[in-house]
Amino acid sequence: MTSWDGLFSVLGSAGVKAVALRPERMREACEEILERCARGETDPEISEWYLKKYFRPEATPAPEWASSLLVMAVPSPVSSVLFEFGEGNLVATIPPTYIYGEGKERISALLAEQCPDVRLVFAPGPRKLLAARSGLARYGRNNVCYVEGMGSMVGFAAFFCDLPCEEDAWGEVRFLERCASCGACARSCPSKCIDEDRFVIHADHCLTFANERKEGEPEHLPREWHHTLVGCLHCQAVCPENAGRMKPIPSGVVFSGEETASLATATDLSSLPEVLRGKLQRLNMDEYLDVLGRNLSLLRNATGLC
Ligand code: SF4
Ligand code: SF4
Repeated sequence: MTSWDGLFSVLGSAGVKAVALRPERMREACEEILERCARGETDPEISEWYLKKYFRPEATPAPEWASSLLVMAVPSPVSSVLFEFGEGNLVATIPPTYIYGEGKERISALLAEQCPDVRLVFAPGPRKLLAARSGLARYGRNNVCYVEGMGSMVGFAAFFCDLPCEEDAWGEVRFLERCASCGACARSCPSKCIDEDRFVIHADHCLTFANERKEGEPEHLPREWHHTLVGCLHCQAVCPENAGRMKPIPSGVVFSGEETASLATATDLSSLPEVLRGKLQRLNMDEYLDVLGRNLSLLRNATGLC
């Protein structure tokens, strides 16, 4: 019979840090986010587009059999991917957390093999807040979550679990101590959305908010801001907590000239050749198909390739 120590040991062998919480923490975390929205602490557009949609408590009910909530910090490095163009190739960077599928499958397979008696089901919800409230992670001034020994090269996952957890380490959100005397992220942010006067960044001005959405119109932003295929790394790149961790790891995925050209106008995944679909899905970039062509063009422009 697997114990918590056994489960944590298996996860640790894959570089994953984890904590156990009581299952009702998921509902509490969702309610906390919605209360922040109601108090006007989050930007209205972000609240409507994302927070109120994905963090409704009823969207992630704890199954009857769940006796705990397992929250994990899974290594997620900066990655790179190669796009071939007729006149020169482009190596595009993908920030942490976007490529999550392979890690999720690897952890699921490991747990199924090593802990077959433990019942787990994926629990979508405010995983960053769960990690911060559990003490697994600390917030940085840039609202990115950091884990000791991993910096912000980390993605968070939560699973309802049938191992019992009667007491947990649920507490106040904590911040990186060095933020008090640093401020490098605020100085580096091109859109100045990290505000000294409030904890929550102005996410509606964030480059990520612009380039992840078709209607975000990042083409109206200064061209030198664009430096990743999606998202933004400026504030994580300068953070001393990430020193030595920012070198992109090649994903091994190469888009041929023909595939790159077809991405320029692609909007429907099912219309693409199977091999190209597979590459996009491996990178989880199929979720951003409607912005990839535009973002690639912005990136080429920013790097002087066109
Ligand atoms: S750059 Fe400095 S202020 Fe910003 S999150 Fe990192 S340590 Fe904190
Ligand atoms: S991700 Fe980019 S735009 Fe957003 S807060 Fe960080 S530096 Fe600013």
